[in-house]
Amino acid sequence: MRSLHPFPGGVHPADHKAESNGRPIAQAPLLPRYVVPLRQHIGTPAKPVVKVGDKVLKGQSIGHADGYVSTAIHAPTSGRVVAVAPQPVPHPSGIADLAIVIEADGDDRAIEYEPLIDWRSMDPSTLRNRIRDLGLAGLGGAVFPSYIKLNPKSAGRVPTLILNGAECEPWITCDDRLMRERAHDILRGTAVIQSLLHAEEILIGIEDNKPEAIAAMREAAEQCGFPIEVVAVPTQYPAGGGKQLTYLLTGKETPSGALSTDIGIQVFNVGTAYSLYRAIEFGEPVISRVVTATGHVAEPQNIEVRIGTPIADLIRLAGGELSGASGRLIGGPMMGFDLRDTAAPITKAVNCVIVKSPALFPPAPPPMPCIRCGECARACPVSLQPFEMHWYAKARDFGKAQGYQLFDCIECGCCSYVCPSHIPLVDYFRFAKSEIWAREREKQAAEQARTRHEFHQFRAEREKQEKADKLAAKAAERLKQAEPTTATADPEAERKKAILQAAIERAKKAKEDVTPKNVDNVSAEVRHEIEEIEARRAKLREAAHAQDEDKA
Ligand code: SF4
Ligand code: SF4
Repeated sequence: MRSLHPFPGGVHPADHKAESNGRPIAQAPLLPRYVVPLRQHIGTPAKPVVKVGDKVLKGQSIGHADGYVSTAIHAPTSGRVVAVAPQPVPHPSGIADLAIVIEADGDDRAIEYEPLIDWRSMDPSTLRNRIRDLGLAGLGGAVFPSYIKLNPKSAGRVPTLILNGAECEPWITCDDRLMRERAHDILRGTAVIQSLLHAEEILIGIEDNKPEAIAAMREAAEQCGFPIEVVAVPTQYPAGGGKQLTYLLTGKETPSGALSTDIGIQVFNVGTAYSLYRAIEFGEPVISRVVTATGHVAEPQNIEVRIGTPIADLIRLAGGELSGASGRLIGGPMMGFDLRDTAAPITKAVNCVIVKSPALFPPAPPPMPCIRCGECARACPVSLQPFEMHWYAKARDFGKAQGYQLFDCIECGCCSYVCPSHIPLVDYFRFAKSEIWAREREKQAAEQARTRHEFHQFRAEREKQEKADKLAAKAAERLKQAEPTTATADPEAERKKAILQAAIERAKKAKEDVTPKNVDNVSAEVRHEIEEIEARRAKLREAAHAQDEDKA
C-alpha cells in the first residue's frame, strides 16, 4: 500500500459529479458544420494548408504544426472548406480567432489511416513526429503538444510516469466515464508513453469519489502485462493539479520554475493516453473527444463529439438548456471561464460545458475590504500569501507581487473560494500576470525596434560607403582609359604638336646664338680676370663640398 503525501491547503467544494456520471458516453451524430480553430494547443497555432473551396476528407490534415511547440489539426468529417477566417472561440477574452469552417457533405469519408501497430520497432524520433502530425496534445486542459512531453531529452529516461485520473474539479466527469468504459484502451496508450519515456514505475492517481473508475482501471492494470499501480487519492481540490498529484503520490516537490521532468516524473492525462491508443491502433488523428455537458440542461451527460462541434449543438445534444439559464461555463467552476458565444466550437482543450442558473451559481456578493484573516493563505496548495499578492496587484505594484511568487500561482481559485470578504483574488492574479507579460512584450518590442534602427543605420552607412567606393573606382577607370587616348587617339594632332615643339626649339637656339653673353667681346685682361675669379669660386665650392662630407 503506497503511503500518500498530502499537499498543503486545498478545499472541498460540492462535487456535483452525480448529475452527469450515471450515463454511458453518448456518440454525437454527424453535424452539418464544424469550426476548427487553428489555435488548439499551447504554443504556435497550426498553419492552415487548405483554402476556401477545397474539398477535404475526414482525418485529413488541414493545419500543419508550425514550429517546435505546435501540433497539427484535422478535418472532423468530409466536406468543403467554406471559410478560413476569425470565428468565435472558447477563450476567456471572447476575442475571435482564426478557424477553418467545414460544411459537411454527409458522406463522412475518411482518408486512409495508417495504424502504427509496429510502433515498438519504430525509431523513437519518427514515432514522435507521427504523434505530432496526428495532432496529439494534452486533453486534461493544458493542451501541451504530446510529442514534446514524450521526449526524455538529455536524461534519456523519465523513471516515473503518472497518469492523471484525479479529475478534481466539480461537475466534470468525462475522465471518470472514460476510465470506466475504456480502461484497457487507456492502458494500451500508456504502454507507448512508458516505452518512449523508459519509465520504470507507472502510477495512476484517481480521486476516491470515483470508485467505479478505480475498479475498472485496477482490473485493466492486472491484465495489461506491465506493472501499474492504481492509487486512490483523497477527494480534495486541486488533487488533479500536476504538481499536487506528483507530491501526493511520490512526496517529491517540483521546484519553483522547474518542470516535473526535472525530478524524473512526467504526468499525462488519461484522455491523452486514450487518444494515443487510437493513433496507434487505427492511425486516427485527434478529431474527437469526450466532453461533459452538464448544469442547467435537461440531460446532463458525457458526449463524444468531433473537434469543431459548435457548443450550441453540444448543449442541444444534452437535452438543451432549461428555462432560466444564466450563462455557460467552459471547464469547471474553480478554474473555468464564462463563454460569450455558443457558436464557439469544442476544441481539444474543452472538457466540460456547464450551463449556469442563478440557483446553481448564485451571483457573488460584492467584495469587501480584506480583513487579513489569513484564510486564503491556509487554503493555498502552493503555500503562497494571496492577500499580499492581492494588495500589490491592486496597487499595480507588480514587482512586489512577483516578489511574493505570483508566477507560482496555479490559479486554482482556492483562495477566492474561502475568502470571507468575497474578494475575487484569482482575477487579480490573472490581471497582474497579463500586465507583466504585456510589459515584457513591450520591452522586447522596444529592444527589437532599437536593434532594427541600429542595423538600418549601419546598412545606410555601408551603402553610402559602397557608393562612394564605386564612384571612385569609376573615376579611376575613366582616367586610366583617358591617358592612352591622348597619346595615341589623334596622330595628326601629335604630328602638329611635334612640329610646333621643334619650331620652338629652333627659335630658342637661334636666340641663344644671336644674344651676346656678358663674357663675350671682352678684352684679354678682363677675360683673364674673369677666369681667375671662376677658378677661385671653383676652389671655394670644392672646399665647402669637402666640409659637408666631413659633417656627414
Ligand atoms: S481570505 Fe480574504 S479577507 Fe482573509 S486575508 Fe485573504 S484576502 Fe483577506
Ligand atoms: S489561486 Fe493561486 S494564490 Fe490562490 S490558492 Fe490557488 S495557487 Fe494559491
